[in-house]
Amino acid sequence: MTSADKEYDLLVINATVLTMDNAGSVYERGAVGVRDGKLAYVGPLSAAVTAETAGLVAGETVAEAAAEAAADVIDACGMIVLPGFVNTHIHIFQSLLKGLGADHELVEWLNLSALPYGALATPAHHRIAARLACMEAIRSGCTTLAEFFYTAQDPALADAVIEGMLSTGMRSVFIRTFQDTGLDYGMPACFIEPAGAAMSAVADLRRRYPVAEYPMLDIWTGPDVTWSTTRAGYAEMLEYCLGEGVNYSMHILETTVDNEMCQREHGCDIVDMLEGLGFLTERMLAVHCVNLTDRDIRRFADYGVSVSHNPAPNLYLGSGIAPIAEAVKAGVNVSLGTDGAASNNTTNMLETMKLAALGQKGRLRRASALSAAETCAFATTGGARALHKQEQIGTLETGKRADFIVFNPDVLTSTPVHDPLAAVVYASEPRNIEHSVIDGRVVLRDGRFVNGLDEREVVEETKKAVRELMAMR
Ligand SMILES: [Zn+2]
Repeated sequence: MTSADKEYDLLVINATVLTMDNAGSVYERGAVGVRDGKLAYVGPLSAAVTAETAGLVAGETVAEAAAEAAADVIDACGMIVLPGFVNTHIHIFQSLLKGLGADHELVEWLNLSALPYGALATPAHHRIAARLACMEAIRSGCTTLAEFFYTAQDPALADAVIEGMLSTGMRSVFIRTFQDTGLDYGMPACFIEPAGAAMSAVADLRRRYPVAEYPMLDIWTGPDVTWSTTRAGYAEMLEYCLGEGVNYSMHILETTVDNEMCQREHGCDIVDMLEGLGFLTERMLAVHCVNLTDRDIRRFADYGVSVSHNPAPNLYLGSGIAPIAEAVKAGVNVSLGTDGAASNNTTNMLETMKLAALGQKGRLRRASALSAAETCAFATTGGARALHKQEQIGTLETGKRADFIVFNPDVLTSTPVHDPLAAVVYASEPRNIEHSVIDGRVVLRDGRFVNGLDEREVVEETKKAVRELMAMR
């Protein structure tokens, strides 16, 4: 048989398969088969390789039968397969700024770190930051990443980030945001533009990166933050997005500054203003939400707004802990983000899951406030839904795109395993991610990057780029 004749391009065998589907299906000795970038089989191993499909003959081992059924076989005995994680919020260029502005609160930290260096970064800086951030994300099990791009809006910078992301194989959402005010709050002048010009630029990006040609990329938009957006700016963006079917995201209620500023400028709280504009829709992905009130939560649930919960930066900047357990109870779709590495210091989804769960347990003084299963669902199904990709990814179900990870629990951190989900959420580290498959393509194999991605090279290039960037100020 030639590989084109085989039933599967890739077959993962002997693993515990956590599908994260609605029924919570788990296959103890399971298999995952991939064909043409899609999941062609998810279920018990015994039904993945049959006499009919694999030419199984008496006495043949499962490995031999699998090798006949598939062009490529990964034996994941003792390992756990689960959907790849979806990181719904990052600022890629901040991967060059880890630790800068440490131990300062949000607005001070912004002015020490993300804003001045964001104004100076060149396309080469953005490109290497994208490779670093995506590879770090892949190492922690992430297979989809939503970049919230808010620095100087030169199209060459956007192109560099997109090129860097796609070069790693990452399924990518590029959120080309805008600021149409904000000088008083320290926004660099080069970030600020009229909302109309911004929407033209978004439309241009969508024309230059059509889905048919770039199936691994979506282009979104959104206002950056309350204090850098005018009321007219929100309205203009909304008209464009609803007219063209474009999704949008924004930072909201990360700290009390949003409502203070909104009260001063508009005489109402931010969620009231957005509701009045018709801004609260299913297309909106609200990032942070630390200071959501019960009434805000009910409105998010009613309008179908999704939340990106970013526990690491919320703790690091002393912003607080978002009322996520309450949002889930109200029916809000919750996803997870790492945020930029300047306010997190890593792009680690395993750590983010653990912080998300522990944060709610501690805040509410209730160990059952958020379970391992619920937290893992934020990183998989919740993320897929937040990015409007629930038909493609988020669970392991036949017909979906083949985005999954193979978690090897046989490292000191996670040994022994009594409960696979508890191991993944509470006792894990990037070293557990043995293999990663995105859109049917293996990107990490036996703990090493493949397809020409060289970790050492990216580390060295990053250090060089950072020396240059620091010298520019
Ligand atoms: Zn952010």
